[in-house]
Amino acid sequence: MVKKTSILNGVRCRRCGTNRGVIRAYGLDICRRCFRDVGTDLHFKKYT
Ligand SMILES: [Zn+2]
Repeated sequence: MVKKTSILNGVRCRRCGTNRGVIRAYGLDICRRCFRDVGTDLHFKKYT
């Protein structure tokens, strides 16, 4: 069996492709930086 997940759980930002600080909650699968861009639409508060 060969796993395709070479990084963590294969979690990557679907916007910029980074695997750091990726938020999987709400099915976003985006990093915190991109989250700020799209997060405003969702009316979220600051992510701490
Ligand atoms: Zn990103």
